[in-house]
Amino acid sequence: MNLQIKASLSPECVAFLRGRLARFDFRHLEYFRLYDRINASVTVGVWGRCKYPNRKKKLGYRIRCCVSITRSEFPYPAKWAVGTRQLDAKNWEWVWREDQLRTLEEAVAWIAGHEAFHWLRHSRQIPGRNHETQANRAGFAWLDEWREIAATSEGRFI
Ligand SMILES: [Zn+2]
Repeated sequence: MNLQIKASLSPECVAFLRGRLARFDFRHLEYFRLYDRINASVTVGVWGRCKYPNRKKKLGYRIRCCVSITRSEFPYPAKWAVGTRQLDAKNWEWVWREDQLRTLEEAVAWIAGHEAFHWLRHSRQIPGRNHETQANRAGFAWLDEWREIAATSEGRFI
């Protein structure tokens, strides 16, 4: 698995990401890159991109995840649509989940889960539809999982 980390993440978080990705077939994954962009971008927040395979160029899935949140900006507000709700025959509304990203690791877990969803759904390794709302849900699922691990590993040292 070509996991490239250009951010100073805790070893527990790196182990979590590796374990999470190792559950899947990553033969067609060219790379999965994580960047801390604090000093390299004027954009603040988290963003990413999952490029699909290119047969002509013989390239597989290429995933980039970026976080640019300074220490003082945590907790960082996180509000993403996780679905839609039908109101009547013609109208619907977004369903949001509001949360807070408290650490760099939490931000990375969220965006990694989101981008991984696009790869895994496109390569038919998981069910669902390749929609942003579903990718956002996957991001929150990874975030929740990471929080549980972080909570228990903190507890171990007390
Ligand atoms: Zn997306």
